[in-house]
Amino acid sequence: MSKFNVNKGPWTHRFAIWVFATVFGVLIMWALGFILKDIGNLTGPSYEDVQAQFIDADLLEQSTELRQEIENIEREQTDLREQQTVLRDSTSESQRTMNQLLDFQRLNLQQDVTPSEAEQQALAESQQLFLSNQTRYQALNQQIADLDGSLRELREQQRTNQAELDEKRPVVNEEYERLVDRNNLKIASIKLGVLLPLIIAAVVLYLKFRSSTYSPMVYAFDLAVAYRVVDVMHQYFPSVVFKYILIGTCILVVARILFVLLQMVANPQMDWLLKQYRDAYERFLCPVCDYPIRRGPRKFLFWTRRTVHKMALPADTTEDADGSYTCPMCSTRLYEECPSCHKTRHSLLPACQHCGDVKVVEAPQSAESSSNLTPEKQ
Ligand SMILES: [Zn+2]
Ligand SMILES: [Zn+2]
Repeated sequence: MSKFNVNKGPWTHRFAIWVFATVFGVLIMWALGFILKDIGNLTGPSYEDVQAQFIDADLLEQSTELRQEIENIEREQTDLREQQTVLRDSTSESQRTMNQLLDFQRLNLQQDVTPSEAEQQALAESQQLFLSNQTRYQALNQQIADLDGSLRELREQQRTNQAELDEKRPVVNEEYERLVDRNNLKIASIKLGVLLPLIIAAVVLYLKFRSSTYSPMVYAFDLAVAYRVVDVMHQYFPSVVFKYILIGTCILVVARILFVLLQMVANPQMDWLLKQYRDAYERFLCPVCDYPIRRGPRKFLFWTRRTVHKMALPADTTEDADGSYTCPMCSTRLYEECPSCHKTRHSLLPACQHCGDVKVVEAPQSAESSSNLTPEKQ
């Protein structure tokens, strides 16, 4: 069991791999997004068409005509009112002039002075203007009143027309909603149809290559596809259905992760187990039960995982001639004679430190056997 991946590369390279894998995933996500968006832009049903199916064309035309006529009259009225405002200004101006002239004349009469020809003329003109303005103002009022009359009539017609339309509106809306739903379903199925081969590809890639050299690419692709699938389902599936699909998927994923984690503890992968063994040997503790390995210069010492590297060893460190060693606590063989060079080697590590002979380190059968008894029988 010496399948260590020796070609990991420098950390910059590994970092670059993760950066590019992320970029790769994001680009695929974008590309899929563009395709799906274009599919989503397919034209849906038109409300006007549905309306034309259920409502008499004359009725619709009448509605449009009435609306236009009413708008026209309202615009005309606004025009007339503006004219009135201008006229009102002019009238009040001429009235003021007239009053001033009258005051002037009265003053002249009191002093027995006859008004000149020009003064008489001016007064007459301003009176004339005032009166004609009044007349025009009245005429405008009359026009506005007339328009009010026809407006009332048109509004009455519009009310009748609207009532008839309102009667048929629910049928139209219902049919329109049905068509929109059908169109959405069509778009959703086209989108899922486009995604389906990708989903299959994602699953196949995952099953085949998840632990290969190319796994970052596979993960990036799979995550991008998964994101788009969830997105489409979220958009088009009724939220009730989507809610259950989402929570169901989440439960499955979490359960799977938990299962794998538990399985790793119960039936550890060799890599994982070797790390645990290496760690324990480095601290001179039994890899199985953590009992100190008291051999060589450490025979009479006491240490724990925390203090092992802080303590000083006895000065006379004579070469260890203990040979094989078994944990007195759990009876696991920890050091043994190498069958190749006949020197002492670690029992739970793959290679002999003297001659490099490699053997298969076997994992204990289950958690129970590894924590209670010997992990491997020799
Ligand atoms: Zn032990
Ligand atoms: Zn050896």
